[in-house]
Amino acid sequence: MLRPDGSQILDVSHFPVLSLKPRLLIPLDVLLLLGSKSMANIQFDDRLKNLKGLFPETPDTIILKADVLREGISFSPEMAEAGSWSLPGAAFLSREAIPDRESYGADARVPNQMILEDDTRINTELEQISPYVIRGNRESGYSLCRNDMPITPIKFTERPVFDHELSDGSPVARALGQRAEHCAAIVHTVFCEYGRDSMECTYCFLGNVQTPRILETGQHLKGTSHNRTIEACAAAAKLFRLDHVVVSGGAFVDTDLEVKSYVKTISALRKAVGPDTRITAVCQAFDEAGWRALKEAGASRVQPNLEVWDEELWSRVIPGKEKAIGKTRWMEGLKQAVDVFGVGEVASSFVGGIELCDPRIAYTEDKAVDSARAAYDSLLEKQIVPMFGMLTKARGTRYEHVDLPPTEYYLRLGWERTSMMIQAAMFDQYSGGVDSDFSCYKCVSHKICQDYPRLMELNNNS
Ligand code: SF4
Repeated sequence: MLRPDGSQILDVSHFPVLSLKPRLLIPLDVLLLLGSKSMANIQFDDRLKNLKGLFPETPDTIILKADVLREGISFSPEMAEAGSWSLPGAAFLSREAIPDRESYGADARVPNQMILEDDTRINTELEQISPYVIRGNRESGYSLCRNDMPITPIKFTERPVFDHELSDGSPVARALGQRAEHCAAIVHTVFCEYGRDSMECTYCFLGNVQTPRILETGQHLKGTSHNRTIEACAAAAKLFRLDHVVVSGGAFVDTDLEVKSYVKTISALRKAVGPDTRITAVCQAFDEAGWRALKEAGASRVQPNLEVWDEELWSRVIPGKEKAIGKTRWMEGLKQAVDVFGVGEVASSFVGGIELCDPRIAYTEDKAVDSARAAYDSLLEKQIVPMFGMLTKARGTRYEHVDLPPTEYYLRLGWERTSMMIQAAMFDQYSGGVDSDFSCYKCVSHKICQDYPRLMELNNNS
């Protein structure tokens, strides 16, 4: 579509009409200009150039990030060296173990995330057949390579050194779950009752692996790990400031009990970290009384994830949530959360790609995108922030051996979501930078959603 002066206009009229704001026409050259704020030096090969050709308005680093998240990254001695001094990743989030671990030692670690020149963060998920690998060293610098050709310089976050241990003598870092310089993620419990009842969500490590392991070993969940985590957060808040802490964990069939568990963790956490840290609860959908209890305990934001949109998929993908709560109550809980926490403080995420990889579902790509658009439209109409993550081949889940959807599919979802967030003026709820979106781009390095508003400067309040 052209303007009278011959320049192009991005016509978003094909997106579902939202009731919040009138339809916007966004000048494409403005979006391209905004997109060019990404200052990363990236050498695209033919495959990445092809992706760029399909998504010309998408910042280069998002294209690269989506492809790396989809392909994973191959372990290398250089990665082992970087892992010896940088923030380590959570092993359970990785698809594979470190190969030849004996040769690297029991303490070998995978760095939590790679940092590109424009500060975009990419989660490191091991996949030995990936074309991506890290080369270089701490002195001369590191590169991310594709098929052994350098693509872009990268760096890592240094591991903080605590000058004391926790009161039980264990290391602070082990209990902390640090995700980035000023971000941590903790759990209220690692036990999921849906995993116990064989009603776990199909994609979830906690429900498919962690909970059965606890049941098998007869391990009891004592309060000690909770106390350790809170003590570690207090130590971290003193040493390097904690801007964000995400609290997630297993689900309870009785949501009132889950509220109590979150309240216990969040109120202790709030006391430990002080008033300025943003605490986000990733939990099930509660009723208004439940949300008020979380807010009084000190939660700032909530994220009850719908995971899949089409109601007929609930029993196949999230059977426990379907049986205990169901989609109608879940949506009601989301709306009540907005009443309690406010617009911009409530989001719901989807597992992007599950409709394409689960043989019992087998949507076409177009049908899956249509479903995502219907979900984003419905949530935005209720002033709830939609998000999506990329399905991973997490070990022990039903998708460990699937072929993931193509990178193009995730870039389609990313552009659809961004366009609809603009149209609903939802990015204007956020101030920019780390706070360009509901999630911080530093801690949520396994999603691409939150990189668009930051790199394209889409927050009108910035
Ligand atoms: S309810 Fe949560 S913790 Fe339990 S299986 Fe589902 S995603 Fe995992």
